[in-house]
Amino acid sequence: MSSQEQLLEGLNGPQRDAVTHSGSPLLIVAGAGSGKTRVLTHRIAHLMAERGVRPGEILAITFTNKAAAEMKERIEALLGTRAANTMWTMTFHSACVRILRREAHRLGYPSSFTIYDAADSQRLMQLVCKELDLDPKRFPPRSFSFQVSNLKNELVDYDTFSEQAQTEQEKKLAEAYRLYQRRLHEAGAMDFDDLIMITVNLFQMFPDVTEYYRRRFRHVMVDEYQDTNHAQYVFVRELVGAAEDSDTSVVPPAELCVVGDADQSIYAFRGATIRNILEFERDFPNARTILLEQNYRSTQNILSAANTVIDRNEGRPAKNLWSEQGEGPKIIGYVADNEHDEAAFVVGEIDRLTDEGVVRPGQVAVFYRTNAQSRVFEDVFIRTGLPYKIVGGVRFYERKEIRDILAYLRVLANPEDTVSLRRILNVPKRGIGARAEESVELLAARERISFAGALRRVDEAPGLATRSAKAIRNFTALLDELAEAVPGSTPAEIVETVLSRTGYLSELAESKDLQDESRVENLEEFVDLAREFEHTFATLLQDEADLEGEENQGIDPGEPTLVDFLERIALVADTDQIPDEDDEGGVVTLMTLHAAKGLEFPAVFLSGMEDGVFPHTRTLGDKTQLEEERRLAYVGITRAQERLYVSRAAVRSAWGTPSYNPASRFLDEVPSSLVDWRRAESTLAAPPSRTIGGRPGGGSGGFGSTFGGGRAKAAKEAPALSVGDLVNHDSFGMGRVELVDGAGDRTKARIDFGADIGEKDLLVKYAPIEKL
Ligand code: ATP
Ligand code: MG
Repeated sequence: MSSQEQLLEGLNGPQRDAVTHSGSPLLIVAGAGSGKTRVLTHRIAHLMAERGVRPGEILAITFTNKAAAEMKERIEALLGTRAANTMWTMTFHSACVRILRREAHRLGYPSSFTIYDAADSQRLMQLVCKELDLDPKRFPPRSFSFQVSNLKNELVDYDTFSEQAQTEQEKKLAEAYRLYQRRLHEAGAMDFDDLIMITVNLFQMFPDVTEYYRRRFRHVMVDEYQDTNHAQYVFVRELVGAAEDSDTSVVPPAELCVVGDADQSIYAFRGATIRNILEFERDFPNARTILLEQNYRSTQNILSAANTVIDRNEGRPAKNLWSEQGEGPKIIGYVADNEHDEAAFVVGEIDRLTDEGVVRPGQVAVFYRTNAQSRVFEDVFIRTGLPYKIVGGVRFYERKEIRDILAYLRVLANPEDTVSLRRILNVPKRGIGARAEESVELLAARERISFAGALRRVDEAPGLATRSAKAIRNFTALLDELAEAVPGSTPAEIVETVLSRTGYLSELAESKDLQDESRVENLEEFVDLAREFEHTFATLLQDEADLEGEENQGIDPGEPTLVDFLERIALVADTDQIPDEDDEGGVVTLMTLHAAKGLEFPAVFLSGMEDGVFPHTRTLGDKTQLEEERRLAYVGITRAQERLYVSRAAVRSAWGTPSYNPASRFLDEVPSSLVDWRRAESTLAAPPSRTIGGRPGGGSGGFGSTFGGGRAKAAKEAPALSVGDLVNHDSFGMGRVELVDGAGDRTKARIDFGADIGEKDLLVKYAPIEKL
């Protein structure tokens, strides 16, 4: 067999056409699992083997680093390591960084420019707004950050924007944008959006740069083209060169091949636009479009589920993916009592499947809508000892916000803990800068006292500005105030006190940044974690005592303290160290649905299938956003090759308050004939009432396995609520009732707590609310 035949073997007709097509721009549009990425990989192999293209002449763009690594792997298998290494297979951002390291000096940046991550750029925007004397209430720096990012994605520079600016908001934004950009430039730094925008600027301002890269990259390929934004589109267009430029440019346009699926567009919130797919033929004249329809990834049952869900979106061309894989097993459904029960089911099932040799851990993925949901899974994985890894998110206990709050707790438990103290010294920002910190450090060294001690003698600190000294006094006063609250409070109460009195939570809640939204969700999880700890603490100690001997039975283990809580966390966080890869069977992958794009797994668990979780609460009232959530569901379902599990929890806690979520509408949309319900209803006829003064039952044992409710409080009468009533909630404050549903103990109300907190679905009987 010739090498040509070998390369084309295992491809269907349209796939072959796509692989061998040469010349004009090529668009491959097709549903999930139809071999788009496979076509790109084979096309690369074909270019090298049959058309004499060198690896260095190819630029293949993927959407995530993980996808880039996967494509490299596939190319390595086809062509060997060297070819894979010399080729540029990477994300837009990485490709631009490489170009900028070489060229950015032309715009006055050092070649060693710094890349600011989201936190850095937000901090800079804050400084800029302060410098411009902008009232943070009227002109919130975080919202400015977000808007500047959008402008950059649209390639709108500050000059253009300030010409268009009409309202006062826009004018101030334009000023902030300008100064922000100047400060970045002075610092020799670029933010994430700059990486693309400045590369495009370079291409447009310096023809010799464009020519260099056009000569270099004769083949440009883009995977997941439906998720490119405007700036990325222009980057591709400039790099390839339009056909009409060919008279003026010495370099003829490069060959362009992009693949995508409008049904999998899930990044509109970051400026991605399916316009790029829809108008490909207009953007690139003479373009050829190839459609693929056969799915090779999934069984028919999985595909049918995916097809019926995505069919509900309006205004999309009907397409019906089909598969020759056979029907396959039915989708397995499970209704859990709560999120712990859900995690226990998922992990138990993975354990069973791997034990029986049906799959290896590396062939299994667990998906969830938001990063915060991973925590409960993590705890169960750690306890069970099944190897796992989290993709596209930092492990729960390593996240910045969790480490910040832990640092506060540690300082409260041990005021001399210098590392923790210095971590929170200026978190949230309270005007204690690096110079002030240095001066305290000098005092400590001079007087041979601890850093904590020096903070208390701030008046003696050398060269300290009056303002800084005052800020430090306020800080120590805050610590004293917090410390006073510790005796007599439970760990969860302490966490809540810290979050509110320090202003940590309100700072995040005011932010418009999506990352901060997920930080708030993580902190919410953390409060729940503390509450669970309180619930299970007693049972846990008792179990341990029971193990040690009969005589210990019945001894009162006492109230859980802050130190107990910190110790427990230290242990969990420590056992959290697991090898990244294990050669034998690999590890279970946990990730958000967004991170799952382009990947495939023999067994997939879609968790948290509840309205308000997935689709996300934020999207419930907005048709466009709901459609994007539905595409995300389509992405999730189509990751599965053979086995798909869907699960939801009847009750899930948020801020320690049980919130009742109905089944996800996406679950309802899957034909019931395709799903085999292991458990179709929660065993909780009504949520278990909280025990008064006693210990709730230990559930299946261990940390966090009980019903995740609030701290035991006397059962109260549910207030009779009707739409329009005003209520006060212990944690969320004032809210207005939007909807009342259900009866008796299960009556739930949707309450709008205003812009910061948003709407919450609460079980009236159990939520700490009071009718006003
Ligand atoms: P997504 O939209 O999810 O990114 P995709 O269209 O990129 O999916 P691929 O990941 O390329 O799809 O392919 C899905 C699976 O089907 C892969 O395991 C791939 O190897 C396999 N596959 C694709 N085409 C064929 C074929 N002609 N014969 C056998 N297997 C194929
Ligand atoms: Mg793909």
